[in-house]
Amino acid sequence: KVRVRFAPSPTGGLHLGGVRTVLFNYLFAKQHEGDFILRIEDTDQNRYVEGAEDYILDCLKWCGLTPDESPVAGGPYAPYRQSERKAIYREYAEKLVRQGHAYYAFDTPEELDKNRKEIPNFQYGQVYRDGLRNSLSLTEHEVDELLDAHTPHVIRIKMPADERVSFTDMIRGNVSFETNQVDDKVLLKADGMPTYHLAVVVDDYLMKITHAFRGEEWLPSAPVHLLLWEYLGWKADMPEWAHLPLILKPDGHGKLSKRDGARLGFPVYAMNWFDAKTGELTPGFRELGFLPEAFLNLLATLGWNDGTDQELFSLDELIEKFSIDRVSKAGAKFDFEKAKWFNAEWIKKSEALSLKSEVKKILEDKGVVVSDEAYLLKVIDKIKDRVVLLPDFYQQAAYFFEQPKEYDANSVKPKWTDAKTQFFISLITLFGATEAWDEASLEAAFKAHAEEKAIKVGELMLPFRIMLVGGKFGPHVFDIAALLGKVETIRRIEKALE
Ligand code: GLU
Repeated sequence: KVRVRFAPSPTGGLHLGGVRTVLFNYLFAKQHEGDFILRIEDTDQNRYVEGAEDYILDCLKWCGLTPDESPVAGGPYAPYRQSERKAIYREYAEKLVRQGHAYYAFDTPEELDKNRKEIPNFQYGQVYRDGLRNSLSLTEHEVDELLDAHTPHVIRIKMPADERVSFTDMIRGNVSFETNQVDDKVLLKADGMPTYHLAVVVDDYLMKITHAFRGEEWLPSAPVHLLLWEYLGWKADMPEWAHLPLILKPDGHGKLSKRDGARLGFPVYAMNWFDAKTGELTPGFRELGFLPEAFLNLLATLGWNDGTDQELFSLDELIEKFSIDRVSKAGAKFDFEKAKWFNAEWIKKSEALSLKSEVKKILEDKGVVVSDEAYLLKVIDKIKDRVVLLPDFYQQAAYFFEQPKEYDANSVKPKWTDAKTQFFISLITLFGATEAWDEASLEAAFKAHAEEKAIKVGELMLPFRIMLVGGKFGPHVFDIAALLGKVETIRRIEKALE
């Protein structure tokens, strides 16, 4: 059975790339009727950030990408938080030491710092490990003494000399590394916690993960992981890996980083992230007014397409059509204008009913009273084609619920004449007597009346719109009048003429 995992470290908000990783994992799992697991990789106590795990859970919930197993849902391989699995990892690290594939290192942070400063290109590894305080260069007796005295130590992998390790990546094909290039990564830290490298291998094995999708930034760690799978005797169970392409800045120059959003004027996080330590708020797509459907759709197209011109995909369609063969190796440029296009399209596609509570909240937050929900649904249907971000619903819908507070003076004044004033005064009487209050009847009556008064209809439409809306926007003006109803339409004409 296919089993995939999203394995975030709770160090802050989720970047676009993080959610895309979730999405690709999820699509692959659901497509194969497999399981999608959320595992929290919180073994680095220094980088742990309060609230980050809740944020991740909220984000998955907002996106509708529900894990089958997780720290909250539980599951057969619980616990799913690595800090709660601490006791599991040491055994494997010790086993590697016994096998000669790992060793104890007693160097203090000060000693390591000194080496880094004094030795150019210092790497704890093949070239330098011999002279240092570790179980490869000390005698067995010295090591025992240090261990007996509870001297703080770490366990490091012993990278073999002159080997080439390779694997087949689902996206990149054959990838290989020279072991001489890689340093002896720490596997178990002085505090007894595993590092990411050890924990990810042990947990992917114990949790029976079959496929692992992660960002390209993890590719350089792959040789360490490959060797661990081999040394621990689990090679046959190693998951298939897919290293997903980077998401690039709009100009294609470099990775889109968490910092770029503020500079370029668009969010990089899925949802607002508030950093309690710095007091800094990093804006998110959700709060800016993106629908989760649109957000997922745009993420899916960052590095993937189905080979046709189709751009809009629902989650179900993505599950059906996603294929790892069509994920590109090249980085995907992020285009915020395109992102907004996806949102506008998804708002258009959405049923008014599904937008209702969101729109109601947007209006009420701005003090607009919405008492008739059936009316709200009709309004949403009329204007949703004009909305790009959800908060735009305020501008586009408010005038359906309250009279314009002011009129766009530029649009009215230059064209406002006595003849036109007379037209609208008599229009009040005419509308007052109109029985059929629908777009077509209103338009016909309006046009006939203009003809009678010998005024070009074209010159009356904008003033009429300004009377009803207050500004130069909104759907067809007779649609607006029809929806507002007779009483309110007449009231607005009267008010504007005051
Ligand atoms: N904990 C790693 C991260 O924060 C996970 C990498 C992986 O999926 O192997 O991205």
